[in-house]
Amino acid sequence: MLDALKAQPADALLALIKLHAADPRADKIDLGVGVYRTGDGATPVFKAIKGAEQRLVDEQDSKSYLGPEGDGAFVSGLMPHIFGEDADRGGRIAGMQTPGGTGAVRLALALAQKAGTRRVHLGTPSWPNHAQIVADLGLETVPFDHALPDGTANVEAVLRVVREGEAGDVVLLHGCCHNPTGIDYTDEQWRAIAEALATSAVIPVLDIAYQGLGHGMDEDAAGVRQVIAAVPEALVAYSCDKNFGLYRDRVGAFYVLAKKPDDLDTIMSNANMLARATWSMPPDHGGAAVRIVLEDEGLSREWLDELGDMRERMRGVRERLAAADAAIPGLNLGALADQNGLFAVLPLSSDQIAKLREDHGIYMAGSGRINVAGLHRGNIDNFIAALEKVAG
Ligand code: PMP
Repeated sequence: MLDALKAQPADALLALIKLHAADPRADKIDLGVGVYRTGDGATPVFKAIKGAEQRLVDEQDSKSYLGPEGDGAFVSGLMPHIFGEDADRGGRIAGMQTPGGTGAVRLALALAQKAGTRRVHLGTPSWPNHAQIVADLGLETVPFDHALPDGTANVEAVLRVVREGEAGDVVLLHGCCHNPTGIDYTDEQWRAIAEALATSAVIPVLDIAYQGLGHGMDEDAAGVRQVIAAVPEALVAYSCDKNFGLYRDRVGAFYVLAKKPDDLDTIMSNANMLARATWSMPPDHGGAAVRIVLEDEGLSREWLDELGDMRERMRGVRERLAAADAAIPGLNLGALADQNGLFAVLPLSSDQIAKLREDHGIYMAGSGRINVAGLHRGNIDNFIAALEKVAG
């Protein structure tokens, strides 16, 4: 029976990792994998997380099951950071822990489907898993253009979707630090989106995977908070895997904003049922470490400081790249300074991307997406010089 299966394409980024690993050049540059790197190219465990993990080792006295909702104090501890003051909007928001942000996106879309959704409007390009999850659920992706050629967001495209979408349609929005473009809506654009959503038949799924890596924890949530304040219903997928550096520990949460508090029990019973049928329960360790950080003033301060250092380092890289704009006019590098987070897309042809890899040992996704955190003082001049040669 299993011989009926057809081979599926390998994950292109994983293939890139292998190519990079096999390259003997000492000055090779990896801009492919989507993890934060320090100026030394490392992806260390946050000190605040190490501190929390030590406490877990010392104090945790059971690893007995917690249930499909996971660690409730982790879920509620995050809420003021995500939603701000009035973190549960008068009792209209509830949540549960998920295996990473990916699990939360999956749960949000599966729950929407259970409630009647058939179509998901998705600004493209997007994180490839979005369309994969939509397709795997048997839903339809309806693409719209996320960005304009000048490197800013195409707000008219999303407003059209929100105004013209049909009842039950979902629009999937990146809360901040858009993957792969780095192009976020401005606060003013978020206001227009929130206003349009307030009277729309379309329900937003807000995917927040990089809070704190753009301009700050509150700043990066400002758009999401405007939407939450305006709409009757919303679904939120949250990842702690970047802003707590927990990647492989798979730490995420899913939240629902309901029309009224009384609706939450029924909605969450459906989310619970879907979780049980998929992963049963989320992994505990990383979420427990985040909870300990959030509950402890000292660890919280340490975490926010570490996050601030990461953000500033990436800002510096963006500014250095933007300063090369005049030397390589075709790449619109100037726009990178106003974009956010780990990623940017450079308008390079596949030939140019291959040349950068073959001639200069620079590894990036075939889409032209670069991880700006792959650049640092030791390699950024080489990178700019190579870009100048290949695309200047
Ligand atoms: N959403 C977006 C837009 C992402 O880029 C990512 C991470 N690459 C996620 C969700 C999920 O992250 P994770 O499952 O690793 O928590």
